[in-house]
This record gives sequence, structure tokens and C-alpha cells, in this order.
Amino acid sequence: MGIERGEAFVLRVRDFAESDLIVTLFTTEWGKRTAIAKGARRFKSRLGGVFDLLNHVEVVFYAKAQLDLISQGALISGYPRLKGSIDTVLAALSVGKLLDRLLPAHQREQAPYMIFEQLLDLLEERVPQWEQTNLAAMLKIVSVLGHRPQFTACVHCGSTRGPFRFVPTRGGIVCTKCEGEGINLSRGLALSLNALIDRPLPRAGIVRMKKEDLSLAHELVDLYLRELAGTTSRTT
Ligand SMILES: [Zn+2]
Repeated sequence: MGIERGEAFVLRVRDFAESDLIVTLFTTEWGKRTAIAKGARRFKSRLGGVFDLLNHVEVVFYAKAQLDLISQGALISGYPRLKGSIDTVLAALSVGKLLDRLLPAHQREQAPYMIFEQLLDLLEERVPQWEQTNLAAMLKIVSVLGHRPQFTACVHCGSTRGPFRFVPTRGGIVCTKCEGEGINLSRGLALSLNALIDRPLPRAGIVRMKKEDLSLAHELVDLYLRELAGTTSRTT
């Protein structure tokens, strides 16, 4: 690989040396990459402000084995409305962090890229039920990356009759006959979560969920993501 040009999302930014930035990019063609933007923190730098968190950018870089070198960058969208509210920023950042943890380096991953792009557009539009949309994006991303949680039947015995518990280490729901520990959830909530995975993201808000179910769902997804992050970092 030599010099490459393409679109990317900024997943992570760190200051480096006196005036550089090290950025984690999710590119369309080359997946997750870590790159250095030299002098980007210098006053009047051409790259200044381009590589802020969650920005959608066009980037030109020299591909290297470890750390790519950014030669040019331009902003496509900085999502000003999304970033105008701390709630939507935190929500989008949690999905960015998930991608940073789960994406393999240097591997094209079109499906998660499209889901993330769609999510940021929806948050920028400030769709109603955006929290549910954000949750759906997380579930969809883990699913397309091969970790779809099982929400339709007990992962152990296949029973579709509850009551169920969600067990992160088992990757899904387990009936109370098979497992004693986990997060209790109703069959209705399990099916709603399943629907969030299958529905197109712009329609995620249509799935009916109670407010208390939504916070339980967030808790459960969070535990599952931690479990996934733990296992993927142990195996890589
Ligand atoms: Zn069972």
C-alpha cells in the first residue's frame, strides 16, 4: 500500500508530542486504522479541527504497518446539531468506542460503517426515540460483527417459554430452568431487542418499548459489550 484517499469517521483522538495528533479512523475501504496528523494542533495548521471526535472526514494518508501518516484531511461533516447536546454526544461516543474495541485493524467492514454513518445522520436530525435508535445501532453492529445476541430462545435448551435471564457470558437469554444467574427480562423485551436488530435503523424508534425497559436494555447491552471487549482483547 502506498498513498490512499478515502472517507473515514474519527473514533479516537490523542495528543502526541508537541503538536501532533494520533487518531483512530474508521475508513470505508481499509477499516480501522491508526494514523498520525503531524502538526495538527499547531495554530493555523491545515489539519486543525478536521480530526475532532466523531467527525466525518476525507483523508489522504501514507499507509504504514503500524501508524499511517496523514498528509491531507478535509471535513465532510462535523455533526453540529448532534454535538450541540451532551446526551447525543455521549450516545454516539459509546458507539464509537464499541467500534474501536471490536473492529479488527486494517480490515474493510462495510456493514458496521454504514450503520454508524446512518446513526450519526439520525442523531444529527434529532429523531424522536434517538436513545432507542442508538441502542439499536449497537446491537446491529455487534450482530454484523458476528456476535449477535440470542433473544428468541434459551441458548441452552432452545425453549421459547420464559421466564428468561440474559447471561452475557452465554451471549443471550437462558431460561430460568437452565441458569440461575443473570439479568431478568421479559419475553416481550427480549423480542423487542431482537426486532431492533432486524429492523432498518431509521425504523428502530417504531419498536414499542417502555421507559424502564429501555434503561434495563441499556444495562444489559452494556454488560454484553464489556463481555465481548474482554473476550476479544484476550484472544487478540
Ligand atoms: Zn433453557
